[in-house]
Amino acid sequence: MATETTLILLKTDCVRKKLCGEVLKRFEAEGFTIRGIKMLEMSDAVLKEHYAHIADRPFFPELVAFMQATPVIGLALEGEDAVARVRDLLGPTDSTKADPGTIRGDFGEDMMVNVCHASDSTENAAIELKRFFKDGEIFAY
Ligand code: ADP
Repeated sequence: MATETTLILLKTDCVRKKLCGEVLKRFEAEGFTIRGIKMLEMSDAVLKEHYAHIADRPFFPELVAFMQATPVIGLALEGEDAVARVRDLLGPTDSTKADPGTIRGDFGEDMMVNVCHASDSTENAAIELKRFFKDGEIFAY
């Protein structure tokens, strides 16, 4: 297993429902280390880039409105096998299909309103960390 850093976004439902502490607690309890954390407003341009793979889907305008409803919180999270393990902690995209005990299973509402984004590969993690964190905003300690 390799030590990896993955990019998490605590989405607007998480912020609105004041679940950020609970979600962070779950990540820390699994032994992950916070290397970077910041509040972000999602511009139209950054959402088009971040969600390029679904930007032509009919639900995209609704997704943009959801992601812009409040600021979101970006995390750079480090740990062994972090990309896959964080995705496991979240559960599948559709919260209604996520098992109890997963973050989406416990707190998500549906396919869109699903608490967190997490990078789906180490390649995408590297791209997404650069997208949301500037040089000097991810800390080694
Ligand atoms: P994931 O976030 O689990 O990697 P995707 O990359 O497929 O999933 O989609 C990005 C985000 O777009 C999802 O987390 C969800 O918020 C939203 N989304 C994806 N598919 C749908 C859909 N069919 N209807 C509504 N929202 C969707």
